[in-house]
Amino acid sequence: MLAKIIDGKKIAKEMRIKLKADAEVFFQKHNRKPGLAVVLVGDNSASKVYVGNKIAGCEEVGIKSSAFYLPEDIIQKKLEELIDTLNLDKTIDGILIQLPLPKHIDEREVLAKLDSKKDVDGFSVNNAGSLFLGEECLVACTPAGCIELIKSTGIKMDGLHAVVIGRSNIVGKPMAMLLLQENCTVTVCHSRTKNLAEITKQADILVAAIGKKEFVNGDMIKPNAIVIDVGINRYEGKLYGDVNFEEASKVASRITPVPGGVGPMTITMLLANTLKAANG
Ligand code: NAD
Repeated sequence: MLAKIIDGKKIAKEMRIKLKADAEVFFQKHNRKPGLAVVLVGDNSASKVYVGNKIAGCEEVGIKSSAFYLPEDIIQKKLEELIDTLNLDKTIDGILIQLPLPKHIDEREVLAKLDSKKDVDGFSVNNAGSLFLGEECLVACTPAGCIELIKSTGIKMDGLHAVVIGRSNIVGKPMAMLLLQENCTVTVCHSRTKNLAEITKQADILVAAIGKKEFVNGDMIKPNAIVIDVGINRYEGKLYGDVNFEEASKVASRITPVPGGVGPMTITMLLANTLKAANG
């Protein structure tokens, strides 16, 4: 039997209806919309698309977005001054710095400047540290969205073996922490992992965050596993995940498609984080 599709588009849509209602409650209480500042440095065309989608998402749920488009050659000090201003602005509840930043900018320093209560991407040291300690915080949007997708299956995560392929600070590591919080037994694999397939074949939940088109094939998947495909790989004008969908869907019980799986959840979790930040 073919795996059931975890429909990220549908789940994101349902979440946005609820977020819109929450934003309206906020508006009634504070006489202003929750505010998100989006900062884009330079001319990266993919980043422009992402920023555009984030602004459209804000519009949809009733969050006021303020976009700051800065020149590629901006100096670090100027960017940090803007962040200081946004940190102090009481109408701005969340600040998103679109990554990657140009090479001459020290990304870590910039993120360190962010008020962690407004860090709706959850990338700052404070939020990453709180997640590590299992404390309440703003959690990185993509892994937070993956957890919502797994929960949507109704399958209890408690005690399941979750394998995460990828150890980036924005996906792999926070994903592993969130799965631990759900009482999974977690294994993190990466580019130096030996006998990868032997490990992934033990996964009740397999999360692929690698960045390599259709890297995970059917032989790497345990029968009836839940497969979450984070990858976005552009090839000849089409989008592909990190998982070979056709093969995997013959083995897994649940699977996220690309596109239409994790992607729509990422922006939705950003909107959720902005509301969370606004409500303190
Ligand atoms: P990254 O390049 O920072 O990390 C990739 C990870 O994959 C690394 O930790 C590396 O060790 C691991 N890896 C690479 N080759 C491997 C191999 N042969 N075997 C095992 N592990 C290997 O990437 P990232 O930022 O974590 O993103 C991963 C993917 O997820 C990309 O395709 C990216 O576009 C996508 N992504 C999607 C969303 C979304 O909203 N859907 C958000 C963020 C990232």
